[in-house]
Amino acid sequence: MTETAFESVAQIEPAEAETRTGTVVMKFGGTSVADPEKIRRVASRLVEAAERGQRVVGVVSAMGRHTDELFDLAHEVSPAPNPRELDMLVSVGERISCALVAMAISDLGRNAISLTGSQAGIVTTTAHGRAKIVEIRARRIHEALDAGCIVLVAGFQGVSTAYDVTTLGRGGSDTTAVALAAALGADACEIYTDVDGVFTADPRVVPEARKLHAVSFEEMLEMAAAGARVLQLRSVEFARNHGVKLHVRSTFSGEPGTWVAEEDERMLEKAMISGITHTLDEALFRVGSPDLAELFTALAEAETSVDTIIQTDAEAVFSVPVEDRGATASALDRLGIDWAEQDDLGKVSIVGAGMKSHPEIAARTFATVAGLGLEPRYVATSPIKISFHVPRDAVERTVQALHDAFELSSAEAERQHG
Ligand code: ADP
Ligand code: ASP
Ligand code: MG
Repeated sequence: MTETAFESVAQIEPAEAETRTGTVVMKFGGTSVADPEKIRRVASRLVEAAERGQRVVGVVSAMGRHTDELFDLAHEVSPAPNPRELDMLVSVGERISCALVAMAISDLGRNAISLTGSQAGIVTTTAHGRAKIVEIRARRIHEALDAGCIVLVAGFQGVSTAYDVTTLGRGGSDTTAVALAAALGADACEIYTDVDGVFTADPRVVPEARKLHAVSFEEMLEMAAAGARVLQLRSVEFARNHGVKLHVRSTFSGEPGTWVAEEDERMLEKAMISGITHTLDEALFRVGSPDLAELFTALAEAETSVDTIIQTDAEAVFSVPVEDRGATASALDRLGIDWAEQDDLGKVSIVGAGMKSHPEIAARTFATVAGLGLEPRYVATSPIKISFHVPRDAVERTVQALHDAFELSSAEAERQHG
């Protein structure tokens, strides 16, 4: 069994020695800007924040399913779209939505300016489709804020060190927002989405899941890595490394959502488990008796994000996010070793800072899985996570059964405190 190690993220220093106070970064996901009415509502929310005297930076995702449509369009034209051109195409969705929000803000009588990732000074690596932010040159944003504008930044994108447009992987607008919050020294980063916060399980799978009042960075890292789509993994890494306070909340109500912050004893008092997460969006590779050093050097050079590494006598098994599938397959081919992709499994994980050194959690987890007549495969643990694979069609009932077994629909699971 192995532990999940998270990659280190780039050191984004506040762009200028002086960081201004009173800055807030507010990020709105695709559902929040899905139509003209919702765009106007987002504009009002940004204006309200500016009227409270804050310096406001809005980060928006593409409208509704626009990014998916652009990917589909690319694949209708080309079976294997050129990665550079694909980034030129899919980055467009966020340009559209941020320009529309800026227009709606002007109609409310405030100055606003929309910026592409490149104009906002977001510099990335050259890995198209999964680029990492290496630096933020925030001068233009500061100037616009100083001039009294609300600044809209197109999420999900940047400009590479080779001057090409890049994108940050699916869900990457979260990372744009958190990285900007770090670079601007913002008081908080607010993530507005289509659910009320971070839940004890995906509320679309477990309807009685509870909204968590607070989760620690470590728990949120594990939950994001294990498929809780509500925050992109890299955004949580940034937030932890730069001490950015994250508030995940609903775009449709004024209710407080979930705070992601440093671990607080009160989080642990109430419930040991923060949630059950699952993913079907991972590629699982099996490699026959590899030289591990050679294998992982090749994967690191291909800039893939490897998770869940299991080594047995005969093989190594590891997973990567779907967007790294192509790069991983090419790296394995270059090494000339035998490999196969296993695509009939999905991953279920149970996460909680309070489960450290509580072996009864593992006992209850595996008894529950056995009770469903399932045999867990590729078990991996960290001090605050147990994950394993089951057949894809059994993933949702496994999540539901574990949610029941750990009584996560009870009020205690919320960790409500003052
Ligand atoms: P956005 O477009 O706002 O970025 P996403 O679709 O990326 O929204 O993320 C929100 C979705 O994440 C929710 O609609 C929900 O189905 C899913 N989700 C998965 N796990 C969780 C969880 N534990 N808590 C909250 N939402 C979750
Ligand atoms: N629009 C992009 C996506 O669909 C980025 C995001 O929503 O955060 O992945
Ligand atoms: Mg998202």
